[in-house]
Amino acid sequence: MYAVAGWHPNDALAAPDDIRPQLREMAKHPKVVAIGETGMDYYRMPSHKEGGTVEQDEIFKRKQAQIFQQQLEVAAEVGLNCVIHQRSAFADTVAMMEPFVGRVHGQFHCFVDGITEMQSVLAMGSVLSFTGILTFKNAQSIRDTLAATPLGKFMLETDSPFLAPVPYRGKRCEPAYVKELSEAVAQVKGCSLDELSTATCAMAREFFPKLK
Ligand SMILES: [Zn+2]
Repeated sequence: MYAVAGWHPNDALAAPDDIRPQLREMAKHPKVVAIGETGMDYYRMPSHKEGGTVEQDEIFKRKQAQIFQQQLEVAAEVGLNCVIHQRSAFADTVAMMEPFVGRVHGQFHCFVDGITEMQSVLAMGSVLSFTGILTFKNAQSIRDTLAATPLGKFMLETDSPFLAPVPYRGKRCEPAYVKELSEAVAQVKGCSLDELSTATCAMAREFFPKLK
């Protein structure tokens, strides 16, 4: 078992002003293979709740940006990549990462965006990761994005305990369900499970250089 270590954007307001010293320490652990999940998430903003204000939204966004920046800095410093959590904040996430292109690669986890967004991610030298959402009946647009994404540019994940794939929808998701996800992905890509596995495993080893 390996870990990624980071500060999630949804918890940004609880972060100290400088998370770098602690993160540097954690990144040294032989089994910490990336920084993350880190990134930007504008899906649930303070103003969406009763009594929340747009001023609070701005404070939240600024704090997310501040700790994302710090995590990108540490990643560049220690030579690790970042697992990126992005929701309803694609443009800002990409803008924050641009100065780090060539030094830090992102894995945009649980990718649900379109072909244009996929192309901007790949153009930065970053990659995608798809979850069981892809097996949902109403997820044709994600299957279209996958169809346009070359083998060798995406990984697969379950994001358990959430997002169990068909036929386990609504149940607790398990890492083992990557099998059901893989079957759906192989069908979309028109490749064998062996070819898919070879491509995603090779990618994981390249992206997480400390994997043994
Ligand atoms: Zn996430």
